[in-house]
Amino acid sequence: MRDDVNRTIKLRSRPVGEIDDSVFELSEEEVPEPGEGQALVRNLCLSLDPTNRVWISDTPSYLPPVGIGDVMRGLGVGRVVSSKSDDYAEGSLVSGLLGWQDYALVGEGTSAVGTPVPSDIEVPVEMLVGVLGITGITAYYGIEEIGQPQEGETVVISAAAGAVGSIAGQLAKIRGARAVGIVGSDEKAEWITGELGFNAAVNRRSPDWREQLAAACPGGIDVDFENAGGEIMDTVFGMLNFHARVVLCGLISQYNADTPPPGPVNFPALLSNRVTLQGFIILDYFDRFPEATAKLAQWVAEGRIKYRDTTVEGLENAPSALRMLFDGENVGKLLVKVADDAAVGAAG
Ligand code: NDP
Repeated sequence: MRDDVNRTIKLRSRPVGEIDDSVFELSEEEVPEPGEGQALVRNLCLSLDPTNRVWISDTPSYLPPVGIGDVMRGLGVGRVVSSKSDDYAEGSLVSGLLGWQDYALVGEGTSAVGTPVPSDIEVPVEMLVGVLGITGITAYYGIEEIGQPQEGETVVISAAAGAVGSIAGQLAKIRGARAVGIVGSDEKAEWITGELGFNAAVNRRSPDWREQLAAACPGGIDVDFENAGGEIMDTVFGMLNFHARVVLCGLISQYNADTPPPGPVNFPALLSNRVTLQGFIILDYFDRFPEATAKLAQWVAEGRIKYRDTTVEGLENAPSALRMLFDGENVGKLLVKVADDAAVGAAG
């Protein structure tokens, strides 16, 4: 990898169904120079998120689609290597929508969105992308503000061994609720029950997963932390208790679908059981991110929240890494390491 080249991954074509090699292309460009009010950030670590798949389709969503030929939009953390802005000190960390590239310009008139990381937060950059970053924060507000599970209630979490789900289940436990996770393998089931303290886990690939779920929730379900959608969501809807809450966080089962699946058969159960369903997009909580990060950092330090990362080395592997989310190959937060922080810090 050369320091004088900015490798970028651009969107070449919109995918139909699953992402294949024709969707992205790698280019090499000159490293840009920051203008007045701007800073140059060396990307260290990228967050790979199911929503990346949503951003490259042209279905209406909460952000405009990434344009064909544009650098792929992506969250990440990087270090400022040169600055002509009072907002970004050289050597400091920045997090935000830095894009799938080695270097990003942030500041006035740039398309990247970069927020300085407070200098008193001294943790590995991977934590800023995962457990203390957007996915941890999504779990935090989904549980604390929307689901609000009470002592003894049962919370079901889909994609429970993933970045959001693994934290959401532990947050439910901290509130005294029972956490039941739906995962894609027996190894993941063992991890969330053994190490993370979930009360039960169900492998969605088992032929009898519905019966397993019913057995794990003998008193019904009070909070559905929904990450999957499709038949998982529909089955959970059919088991919801009176005044249950649905935290509608994600619908990963349909992000690759060319045509939307039919609506849930058990939808009327929401009406008869007076269920509250709330969709949410974590960007709406942007101003309150520091509050969640501080709380999560405290619980991690106290050993009350455990986390795992799945790290893929090299920017060039971001497209294939994205597919891992849909194949269930990640455990915990999936991230791509773009550059070594120690080397970047030393060079700066
Ligand atoms: P994860 O780390 O959970 O990775 C995705 C996981 O989803 C996979 O590991 C796999 O786990 C599971 N999965 C994949 N395909 C399917 C399928 N067809 N049916 C059921 N499960 C499937 O990703 P994140 O934690 O980053 O995201 C989890 C969810 O949260 C996503 O839906 C995402 O869009 C949403 N999200 C929403 C946000 C918001 O603001 N609303 C913010 C961040 C995330 P397994 O094989 O073990 O089931």
